[in-house]
Amino acid sequence: MPENKDTGIVFIRSSINEASFLPFEDKVLKALSDYCDKKSYLCLSIGRNDFSEEKQKTIADWFSKNALSSALFIDFSGEYTKERIIKSILSEVVIPERIMLLNFSERIRNTNDDNEAQAVIDEAKRNIDTFHKRYSLGKKLDYSPFNPKKRVVVVGGGIAGIECAIKLAEEGFGAAIVEREESLGGVLRKVPAFYNSDILPSDFLEEKIKTLESLPNIDVLLNGQIESIKGEAGDMKVSFENGEERKEIDCGAVVIAGGVWTGISADIKRTIPDDERIISLSDFCEKRDEIIEKIKSSADGKAILFAGNYSKTYSPVLFSSLLFNALKLYEETNLPVAVAIANAEVAREGAEELYTEVREKGITLFKTLEKMPEIFIKDGDLYSAIDDIYLKGEGMSDVRVLVDCALIVIEDSVERNFTLEAVAEKIRMKTGPRASIQPENLNLLAVDTNKNGIFVCGSCRQVSDISEIERDAENVVASIKRTLDENLKYPSEKIIVDKGKCTLCLTCVRVCPHGAIEWSRAAEISQINCLGCGTCTSECPNRAITLSSFSDEEVYCELEGLI
Ligand code: SF4
Ligand code: SF4
Repeated sequence: MPENKDTGIVFIRSSINEASFLPFEDKVLKALSDYCDKKSYLCLSIGRNDFSEEKQKTIADWFSKNALSSALFIDFSGEYTKERIIKSILSEVVIPERIMLLNFSERIRNTNDDNEAQAVIDEAKRNIDTFHKRYSLGKKLDYSPFNPKKRVVVVGGGIAGIECAIKLAEEGFGAAIVEREESLGGVLRKVPAFYNSDILPSDFLEEKIKTLESLPNIDVLLNGQIESIKGEAGDMKVSFENGEERKEIDCGAVVIAGGVWTGISADIKRTIPDDERIISLSDFCEKRDEIIEKIKSSADGKAILFAGNYSKTYSPVLFSSLLFNALKLYEETNLPVAVAIANAEVAREGAEELYTEVREKGITLFKTLEKMPEIFIKDGDLYSAIDDIYLKGEGMSDVRVLVDCALIVIEDSVERNFTLEAVAEKIRMKTGPRASIQPENLNLLAVDTNKNGIFVCGSCRQVSDISEIERDAENVVASIKRTLDENLKYPSEKIIVDKGKCTLCLTCVRVCPHGAIEWSRAAEISQINCLGCGTCTSECPNRAITLSSFSDEEVYCELEGLI
């Protein structure tokens, strides 16, 4: 094996005494160490969970001393993961993209004879060859210093945005909340009670706002309408309109914690008359006392009907709020209250106690199919015709009940905020069908997006429970800490555009799944936002893009190793 000063191999022995597979492990290690040049490998023993700092240091020192920039770990202990190696051992020492890990722990434990041991030796040798060939071929990458801005713009001042800003400030980041309304709080301001807690949402919110105000380095910008998000992770610019003015904030990352709107969905609105006796649940909550006073004097035996789960954007908080409001209204006024709901999965969302209470208290409960009950006005009176699937009449498949209503309250649906949708489209962020911005890549966390440096939190990704929002905010902060870590290394020429060949056809801009490509006189690729998927290199009609470390020759080497 030729000596290769740039590549280092680490053999990790399993230190399990008297295990039956040890003779085979010895045989494999002997064969492989003979195969390698003595100067280019290190052999260590590791027991179960024996990931001590001393051993990590031994490995890191060996790589430093020998000025090695690529690492191959051949692990028989099963204790190593690539992430662990990068983070704990070699983050400062070798190039993260040039770390390979072969885990033979299971194979060696199931080895019963010399033939099986030989198969492991052959496979490891092939990989050693590939490793040496590949990293002696590739040109050494240069790294640019990464000086990320430690300020984060949070779009949306609802509970998710507030929670994110608090957690960011606690971790030492600066945060700027841009809220389009004139006060913080968002949808939570309209929720009168939590279905699973005695704390009032208004008290909960005020407490959070107090905490927010007590923390240094948080700015709140109200009446701000987001316009654009530009730049790459660590160095971004968010533009927004603030009244007549246009403002910009420099930041390292952006959290989208808004983007939803609530009200009666357009689909339902089309099927109901325009009448002030038909209102959304959020309007009911906002003017509750006034509405109750009015109804008490005018209901005249007519029912107050609450209709829930008919929009296709079901939210457990809103559904529970509907049941809760029906119950409270019934208890406070003793007026006839009815609830119509479509196929609600109450048990799944933890609203079953409320559901049972509603039924046991004597509130009339209709269960229907997905179609919204018919609502119409006749001679000035408001009616709802409800097809209950469980009420059976003689000779009929089901029964249509006509309810004479004083008021109809319809559960809100969660709709897209079109301004944010437009921004998402402009920066080529992927949005889901229900107002949500969801990662399609399963390797990404739920709070990550396809754009490096932009994260989502809360209801814009269909999270609607307070505990889920808190967890989301924690995940966002963890992702931001990882993304804005100044110890990260980004190669300055990971991906290169040959400007002489680029005809500005913009194919690469369209196909890049991570929105990493901009253009002026030629395509320009962000070295930080590019995740190295290679789509643009294969789609460019002029072969103008090269991904370093992935030349054809290097890829052939890798394939050879696999065959
Ligand atoms: S696909 Fe190739 S030619 Fe077209 S813009 Fe991108 S780099 Fe230029
Ligand atoms: S390799 Fe090309 S397509 Fe893939 S993330 Fe990088 S720039 Fe985008």
